[in-house]
Amino acid sequence: MRTIVFHPGTGTVETMVVKVGSRIVTSHDSLARAPRIRTLVEDIVTLHRAGIRVLLVSSGAIAHGVRALRLGKRPAAIPLQQACASVGQIRLMHMYETLFARRKVSIGQVLLTWDDLRDKKRYLNLRNTLFKLLDCGAVPILNENDSVGIEEIRFGDNDTLGAQVAMLVGADLFVNLTDTPGLFETNPRLQKNARHIPRVERITAATHESAHVKGSEEGVGGMVTKLKAAEMVCKAGMCAIIGDGYHDRLLNVLKNDTSGTLFVPSAGKMSSKHRWLAFSGRAHGAVRVDDGARRAVVERGKSLLPAGIKSVEGTFGVGDMVDIQDSRGTPFARGIVNYASGDVETIRGCRSGEIAGRLGQKTYDEVIHRDNLVLLKDAAAAK
Ligand code: GLU
Repeated sequence: MRTIVFHPGTGTVETMVVKVGSRIVTSHDSLARAPRIRTLVEDIVTLHRAGIRVLLVSSGAIAHGVRALRLGKRPAAIPLQQACASVGQIRLMHMYETLFARRKVSIGQVLLTWDDLRDKKRYLNLRNTLFKLLDCGAVPILNENDSVGIEEIRFGDNDTLGAQVAMLVGADLFVNLTDTPGLFETNPRLQKNARHIPRVERITAATHESAHVKGSEEGVGGMVTKLKAAEMVCKAGMCAIIGDGYHDRLLNVLKNDTSGTLFVPSAGKMSSKHRWLAFSGRAHGAVRVDDGARRAVVERGKSLLPAGIKSVEGTFGVGDMVDIQDSRGTPFARGIVNYASGDVETIRGCRSGEIAGRLGQKTYDEVIHRDNLVLLKDAAAAK
C-alpha cells in the first residue's frame, strides 16, 4: 500500500499529469454505458477538490473517429487517421465536457505538436497558458494535434506527449494509465504467474527487458514507449507510475502497489530551463570542441569558453540552443549560446581577453554559460 502523498522532496503531490490510453476511453460508445470514463472523471475531480493540480493527456481521438465514421478498424493511411482524429477529437471532448460539467468543473482543450515544445518562446507561452488554466480552476485536457501533424512534428504516441507535459509544468508525478498494472518480470500475457514489479528505483537495461507487454490495437504506444516516458520523467527528478486504468481506477493506482509500478526519480528535480534543454528543445546548430574543453565541461562542471571551440556548424542566433560535440563530432552536451554563429566563428580559439579585440566588444566570457548547459547523459533517451 502506498499513498498519493509520497513525493520524496516535498512529501506531497501538487501537480500531476494523468495520461489515458485509447482503450480506456473508447471501450463503450455510449456515454451512459461508459463507467470507466465516468470513474476516471470522478477520480480526477476528487483529486482536483483535494487541491491537486491535475492535467489530463487523453488519447482516443482516432479511435472515436473510427467508430463515428464506421470504419471498423483503425486505418493504416495517415490522411484517413487524421480525418478520424478531426471527427473523434470533438466527440472525445464532448464526452469530457459533459462529465466534468456535471461535477461543475471546467475543462480546457490544448492540442499540441512537437513544434510547440521545441521552440523556446512557444514552450514558455504554452506553459503560461497551462498555469493560467490551472489557476482558474480548470482541468487542461491535452492531446496530440493529430489532424495537422506531419511526420517531422508528430509525437507519434501520447506516452511521449504525457511525459513532455509533465516536464512542461514541472509535475511531481506522471501517471500513465494503460490496461496492465505496469511492469512484470516476465510477460503476463504468456505466463499466468508472472511476478509484478511494484517499484523501480532505477531504470536499467534489465528494466527495459521487462517491457514485454505489447500495446493494444486501438492505441499506438506499447510498454516500451511507456517505459521510455517514465525514464525521461525520472531523469528530470519526478515520479512516474504506469498503472492499470482499464480494470482498475486512478485512485487505486495511486494507492495500491498491486495496481501499478512506481518509478522513483533518479536525480533531483531539474529547473524548468534545464528540462527544456534536456528533453524538449531543438538544436539550431553545433560547436565542435577540443578534448580539453570537453573534459572541462563534462568532468569539471565548467562553462564553454571560445578557446576550446574548433569549428561551428549551422546558423544560430543569440539565445538559440546548440549541441556541443567532441572532436569526433559526437554530441555530449547542449546549451543556450551567448553569441550568434558568425561571432562564434570569429572568436573560436580565442582567450577571453581577446574577444573584445576580435568583435569590437565583449558581452560575455563564455559562449555557453554553465547555468544554460546540460550534459546529454542526463537528457532524454526518448527525444
Ligand atoms: N493521439 C492519438 C489519439 O488521440 C493517440 C495516440 C496514442 O494512443 O498514443 O487517437
